[in-house]
Amino acid sequence: MPFYYDTVYWVALIPILILSVYAQIKVSSSFNRYSRIRNQRNITGAMAADAVLRAHGIRDVIIRPCRGHLSDHYDPRSNTIFLSESVFDQATVAAVGVAAHEAGHAVQYAVGYGPIKLRMAILPVTRFGSQFSFLAIALGLILEAQSLFAVGIILFATTTFFQLVTLPVEFNASGRAIGTIEGAYLLNEEEQKGAKKVLSAAALTYVAALLTSMLQLLRYLMLFAGRNDRRRR
Ligand SMILES: [Zn+2]
Repeated sequence: MPFYYDTVYWVALIPILILSVYAQIKVSSSFNRYSRIRNQRNITGAMAADAVLRAHGIRDVIIRPCRGHLSDHYDPRSNTIFLSESVFDQATVAAVGVAAHEAGHAVQYAVGYGPIKLRMAILPVTRFGSQFSFLAIALGLILEAQSLFAVGIILFATTTFFQLVTLPVEFNASGRAIGTIEGAYLLNEEEQKGAKKVLSAAALTYVAALLTSMLQLLRYLMLFAGRNDRRRR
């Protein structure tokens, strides 16, 4: 096995683990912090989402409350933005940031933003990949079947690729959110900083997820190469 891959793996492992934990803590701490700060103009999450849609000339998207904590999402099938209890009718800095971000996703679908179309297109393959990659890899290892192992790695790689495509989608949604928050002056300058902190913490979790997935892929490739080497000997 090439020494190089091994070194890259072990050197990258700890920082990526730390980054993942840090991002998770940062998301909840920044959301909790800015959920306690009411915004000056009394803009609720639902109002902010509506403002983003209107700024982009979109009128057919539904905005509804949903249960759960940080469960906010946009559902393209029903063309509905679901906002959680602490976002929907709360006039806080965090609520405006999160709701505007979800509306950003709705805008992406409405304008046919490329990466979100790609993400939708590869979703079924990714679902299949995440369900069966582990099975194929485990069986490949147990049965010493390198071809099955290779199939497993390819399936796993589809999930890594999905996370790669997720990055521009998430950054772009936040960019659209910030654009309206600033442009329509939903939040004052001080509050805008808070909303940006919440959104960049969320973005960091996607970066951490991608790096973790890439590292796992590297690990599989190392194992695969190691087995190939042993066979040749
Ligand atoms: Zn998002």
